[in-house]
Amino acid sequence: MRRISFVVPIILLLAFGAAPGAAAQVSRGFDPANMDTGVNPCADFYQYAVGAWEKRTAIPAEYAKYGVDQEVDERTSAILKGILEGAAADRSAPKGSERQKVGDFFASGMDEARIEGEGARPLERFLVRIAAVQDRNALAAEIALLQVIGTGAAFRLEVGPDDRNSALNILQLSQQGLGLPDRDYYLKQDAQSKTLRREYLAHVERMFHLLGDAAPTAGRNAQTVMRLETRLARASMTRTETEDPVATYHKMTRTMLATHASGFAWDAYFRALGLDDAETLVLRQPAFFRELGRMAQGVPLSEWKTYLRWHLLRAAAGYLSSPFAREAFAFNGTTLEGTQALPPRWKRVLAETDAALGEALGKLYVERAFSPQAKQKALEMVANLRAALRARLQRLEWMGDATKASALAKLDAMRLKIGYPDVWRDYGALQVSRTGYLRNVLAARSFEFQRGLAKVGKPVDRAEWSTTPITNNAFYDPTLNELVFPAGILQPPFFDPGADEALNYGNIGATIGHEMTHGFDDGGRQYDAQGNLRNWWTVEDEKAFTERAALLVKQFDAFEPIPGMHINGTLTLGENLADLGGLSIAYDAFQRSQQGKPTAVPQDGFTPEQRFFLSYAETWRFKIREEALRARLLTDEHAPPKYRVLGPLANLPEFAAAFTCKAGDAMVRPSTDRVTLW
Ligand SMILES: [Zn+2]
Repeated sequence: MRRISFVVPIILLLAFGAAPGAAAQVSRGFDPANMDTGVNPCADFYQYAVGAWEKRTAIPAEYAKYGVDQEVDERTSAILKGILEGAAADRSAPKGSERQKVGDFFASGMDEARIEGEGARPLERFLVRIAAVQDRNALAAEIALLQVIGTGAAFRLEVGPDDRNSALNILQLSQQGLGLPDRDYYLKQDAQSKTLRREYLAHVERMFHLLGDAAPTAGRNAQTVMRLETRLARASMTRTETEDPVATYHKMTRTMLATHASGFAWDAYFRALGLDDAETLVLRQPAFFRELGRMAQGVPLSEWKTYLRWHLLRAAAGYLSSPFAREAFAFNGTTLEGTQALPPRWKRVLAETDAALGEALGKLYVERAFSPQAKQKALEMVANLRAALRARLQRLEWMGDATKASALAKLDAMRLKIGYPDVWRDYGALQVSRTGYLRNVLAARSFEFQRGLAKVGKPVDRAEWSTTPITNNAFYDPTLNELVFPAGILQPPFFDPGADEALNYGNIGATIGHEMTHGFDDGGRQYDAQGNLRNWWTVEDEKAFTERAALLVKQFDAFEPIPGMHINGTLTLGENLADLGGLSIAYDAFQRSQQGKPTAVPQDGFTPEQRFFLSYAETWRFKIREEALRARLLTDEHAPPKYRVLGPLANLPEFAAAFTCKAGDAMVRPSTDRVTLW
């Protein structure tokens, strides 16, 4: 991934916020006005490339972070706003058509008067159901039903390719069930973490109070939630441990699961999901589920019911009346991220419409904003990047011939998705009305969940997209061995079919290379050409890779973005490897694109090679509030953007040559320290 993308709806909705008013100007490629040429590029290339932008930019109140991604989101949002308002105003769309669904979904979210008038009433039927839970079977069934509507209750169930048999879909169970962003938030003993826990407790208490619990009860209920979540946190793997595909693969039968995590009424759970005949599954974190089994048996039912009410409320608050939405934002947006103001309603509803009807909305978007020329140019760039990586793999000195042959086969087999799906999703079974925003949101989540369940045991559909066309991000999926570049990222300044090659290769080219080399990073390299988790490395080659990667871990461990808080070099290793590899091959592909053409002349006083690196740095200009930075250092597998410039460039002789940097400069790693992989 280019950057983290949250799947927790409430966070997604906040991450999508934007500044008020019209869409911001989006620069085309690299802009010399962003540079601080008073800085020596060999001392601090980030400041040199975007120092002037840093100085003149303040983070808008509705953002936790601000940079190119947010500028692009703003422009996309402005286009989508027109589409959505048009669809909402069009009462002539045939009932059941996608236009009706998209328009009505948006209209229901914008119907503030109704939402305010209803308060927490849309939750009533769920609350009644939770209150009616009388035994352990009913508890397991209720957890299942709450998962169907997208709450993060207890654990996560999803359906996807089996890591060791990637042609078939299988049930996968993984740890979840926390209200704070990560297990570390519950367990760390520093002053900052203790304060956050106190604030979380107060937040949960206020939410219960809003729901109607009297003062002492609301406080007690918050304590119960904290106690249960802390037990789940203690049993959870660390963020770094969950990145290990072998340690998180435990295929078992239902009978084995019932023995392993006895205490939880698995039969009742699967029956509630209509999965009576599901035989096998993959358990990601066995220790977590063992503890869940103990808790299902040992924790009083009344406490479980409190926990479930909280997770229902937490998942729904953003769609309820303003006291709930404001309280959720005060904690998730302001306390956790430092964001000052709730984004305007239309932006929040837009993000939710994308989550609910992403391909229907995406279809309307690409008709208007994504050209066949853009697709053609992107295809051409990917082909050049692939050829560049192929050439690099062939001449690698540290990799033996057998491993090399498998690596090349994997690269050749890598599939590509660009812009939008060839086959669009069928939303026929999803009912959307103009009234009842929360009902629409939950219906969409339930539709999505059921769509997943229907795939259990079936062959993997390789044409299907797991991201929506408007998504401003890029992906590599190891079990599918595929690259995905949605229309949302294929636009200026990341990509401009009309811009010169130096700018496109330094920018989207490096992102394409980044995703491609994910297939060979510390996680991706454990999967083969078919997307199966299978070791195809010789012992010596694996050792050579690990030694090189360890150097990069050390480099990033040493960065200290906040005094006393370092980057986690192990957690961010895959992304750092992808940045370094992506830049290297994008640079080669850029050189390749220039073959047979007249030598490019300097522009704005910079050579094509310098513009390539300036364009790269430009994509990472970025400001972030300290609260959000702290959260990201704990949870994000990406290093903060500034270090995605400083880190990889200091390892690249091509960069030093372009700016005539010398040994001893901060942007030039000594040769003993330098990481070279691809
Ligand atoms: Zn990535």
